[in-house]
Amino acid sequence: MQVVYYPDPVLKLRSAEVDPRSEEIRELVREMIESMHESQGVGLAAPQVGRSLRIFVASETGEIEDAIPFLNPRVEPFGPTKPFEEGCLSFPDIRAPIVRPERVRVVYQDLDGNERRAEFGELTARIVQHEYDHLEGVLFIERMTPADRLRIRPDLKTLEEQFRPR
Ligand code: ZN
Repeated sequence: MQVVYYPDPVLKLRSAEVDPRSEEIRELVREMIESMHESQGVGLAAPQVGRSLRIFVASETGEIEDAIPFLNPRVEPFGPTKPFEEGCLSFPDIRAPIVRPERVRVVYQDLDGNERRAEFGELTARIVQHEYDHLEGVLFIERMTPADRLRIRPDLKTLEEQFRPR
C-alpha cells in the first residue's frame, strides 16, 4: 500500500464516514497498520493511502501490536498548549514544531462497530490530533509558524515538482 505525498489533492478533502463492520474496511485498516509500521511512522490516516475515509491508526511505539484503529472519530483537544516537533509520512523529511493542546478526548468506533471513549496525553494525544486533521483535509504545514513555513518552502517546492497524479 503506497503512501500518498503532498500535494496529492486527496489530502485536502474532508473524508467520509465508514461502516466499521464491512470486511473491506477491516482489510483496509490491517493494510494501513502495516504501511504505518513499514514507513516507521506512529500514525497514518486513510487519505494518506489515497482513501478519503474517516479512519486513522495510531501506535505510540510504531509497533503493529500497539496500533489502535479509530473509525469515525470525534476529537476534543483540551488542556494547555505546547509546541512539539512533528513529521508526516506525506511530507518526507519535513519536520517542525506544532503547537497543540496536550490532551485529547476521543469518541470513536472500533472494528466491531462499538462506540468507545478514551482520553490521551503525551505522544498519543499528539498523534490523534495530527491524524484527525487529515480526516478534515488539514495538513500540519498549515499549523506551522510563518517562519517555519518559509524555512520549508524549498522542500515543498521539491515535492510539488516530484508529484505525479495517481
Ligand atoms: Zn500526517
